[in-house]
Amino acid sequence: MQFNYFVVFGLTIFGFAIMYFGGAWIGMRLAIVGEPIVRRPIKPRQMRSEIKLSLISILIFGLLTVATAYLVNHGLLHVSWTVSWPKLLLEILALFLWNEIHFYISHRLLHTRWLFKHVHYKHHLSTIPTAYSTFSFHYVEALLLGSVLTTALLFYSFSVLSLLTLPLMSLILNVLGHCNLDFFPGRSAQSLLSFTPRHSDHHVRNNGNYGFFLPYFDQMFATSIKEQKSHKHSRHHQG
Ligand SMILES: [Zn+2]
Ligand SMILES: [Zn+2]
Repeated sequence: MQFNYFVVFGLTIFGFAIMYFGGAWIGMRLAIVGEPIVRRPIKPRQMRSEIKLSLISILIFGLLTVATAYLVNHGLLHVSWTVSWPKLLLEILALFLWNEIHFYISHRLLHTRWLFKHVHYKHHLSTIPTAYSTFSFHYVEALLLGSVLTTALLFYSFSVLSLLTLPLMSLILNVLGHCNLDFFPGRSAQSLLSFTPRHSDHHVRNNGNYGFFLPYFDQMFATSIKEQKSHKHSRHHQG
């Protein structure tokens, strides 16, 4: 089966726009169930610039999906159109892990001197992240992070159905990770469920905690932010 590029592009940007605005709308309303991590107010017009950058990222994701569809149509990458339930679950798990590995590697690269100064600084303009920060990237960062599905297909011919679950899974984690709310206050910073405080600390400190949901890669490569406790303590005394 051949992909139609206009359909692929349209569906990608429409799907991402719905997920982005829907996710951020929900994320902004989660304050009733979480405790603010950094209590200072965000910069004036921050959300406006986050939305602008995110819309550009969504266009880049559309172009990346078209490029991937081109590679599939020309037999350079392969996708599967059928999948059984057990296989679907395994594929989703594999994509989740690849998403974490791909993010850790890309994020560490983005924190090298040149890439931070010219590319990743845009995401870090949000010192205090919001649910609208999820795709607030320079277009080069959108290309790098958006290549997660294309690169997954280099290793294995995933089914279209499991590939479709990755953007949704990633967006949910991204909104939760950027909403500046601790849903499980008091948990250790290395707990799986402390991914939001870990990523908020990354935005405040501009280094360390390069992983997203899983803390294991930072632990393995000694890049976890260490002074979590004193920092956590100071949070509650800010503004
Ligand atoms: Zn960063
Ligand atoms: Zn971030």
